[in-house]
Amino acid sequence: MTFEDLGVIEPILKALDAKNYKEPTQIQERAIPVVLKRRDVLGSAQTGTGKTAAFAIPIIQLIHQIEKKQQGNRPVIRSLIVTPTRELAIQIDENIRDYAKHTFIKHAVIFGGVKQSKQVASLKNGVHILVATPGRLLDLIDQGYISLDTVKIFVLDEADRMLDMGFIHDIKKLLKLLPEKRQSLFFSATMPNNIVKLSSTILSNPQKIEVSPTSSTAETIQQFIYYTNRPDKKQLLVHILKDPELKQVLLFSRTKHGADRIARDLKKKRISVAAIHGDKSQNQRQRALSDFKDGNLRVLVATDIAARGIDIDKLRHVINYDIPNIAETYVHRIGRSGRAKEDGIAISICEPEENAYVRDIERLIKKKITVLSDNPFPQTDKPMTEAEKKEWNKEKQRRKQEFFAQRKASKQRRGGGGGKWRGR
Ligand code: AMP
Repeated sequence: MTFEDLGVIEPILKALDAKNYKEPTQIQERAIPVVLKRRDVLGSAQTGTGKTAAFAIPIIQLIHQIEKKQQGNRPVIRSLIVTPTRELAIQIDENIRDYAKHTFIKHAVIFGGVKQSKQVASLKNGVHILVATPGRLLDLIDQGYISLDTVKIFVLDEADRMLDMGFIHDIKKLLKLLPEKRQSLFFSATMPNNIVKLSSTILSNPQKIEVSPTSSTAETIQQFIYYTNRPDKKQLLVHILKDPELKQVLLFSRTKHGADRIARDLKKKRISVAAIHGDKSQNQRQRALSDFKDGNLRVLVATDIAARGIDIDKLRHVINYDIPNIAETYVHRIGRSGRAKEDGIAISICEPEENAYVRDIERLIKKKITVLSDNPFPQTDKPMTEAEKKEWNKEKQRRKQEFFAQRKASKQRRGGGGGKWRGR
């Protein structure tokens, strides 16, 4: 099967050729003809399957063909693509730029965390395709810079993550602003009940397209695991990174704090590293990402949300510094390597408290993760019993209170001790 067989038009074929896309991926093969027929789509596809092109190519084609006669007029928004993270929005827009480079399609991307002036300027000349994160989109609609009245094709991307990130109210608001008569494409990596319910409020008589359900991790990814003790994780990571085969690594940390700490530790070992997470500014995140993509960083440490949707060409290695307690998150994480038929390697580091999570993951992916034996720091501790966990949580609570009490005391000391005089 070729893109030509799917009915893709010449200017787009030329662009795909330049990107060296030899044949459509499974989701592209199934979705492109359906979208071209103007049908709604309920797509269940994980990242790395070529999902972006599966919706972007037919959207560009439809607009190119239908609007041809209006060429020269100021473009109006014909397609709105809403996606949860800024990184993903930027990536989708970059893909559209590449696929549409031999068409007259105008496109723009808007996302929060940066000043709006440049984005507003790009909208002023008119665009056919707008890629947006929900918050900034609603903001610019409120300010009167964007109207959705002209939208013909609406795409909701990564719907499951969108709900995880608490965007449900924003999506409901958006749906009220979109024309009722429209084509809608809905994509989600997982399809739990709440997602199916949401999709039914958006789609009408959709064609269901499912490629490799979440439980089947990409076959090209080899998965390994080290069992170790919690205090040894740091040293084990340094041991793993001694292997020169690991040229570039995307490393996952559950928390922002953890991500910063890992980055600090690796820096001390003279490993080039940066961390991205929600507390970093948009510019810091973009810089870290482009440094990593350009090969100037060996390790990029990321939290799940920050890493979602990041597409790094030819990334082979992913390390899980901790084991996610939601098995699907593991699948998303390792899906960052081995994208589009490249082979990938995922290495996980597991402390005793996470042993049970590994069992959940293995149940979901229906295979055993290979345990690595070259482990200088093998796991010897046992997971805590329920009683020990309770005790530990109490102790954590006590330490937290002590920390805040000390901070308050030191603040008061700095303030001269006299609340009455403050501000005089
Ligand atoms: P996505 O799932 O949309 O994030 O795409 C994953 C990666 O696959 C991106 O780097 C795309 O550029 C690449 N890709 C998408 N479609 C194809 C194709 N037909 N042939 C080769 N690479 C592709």
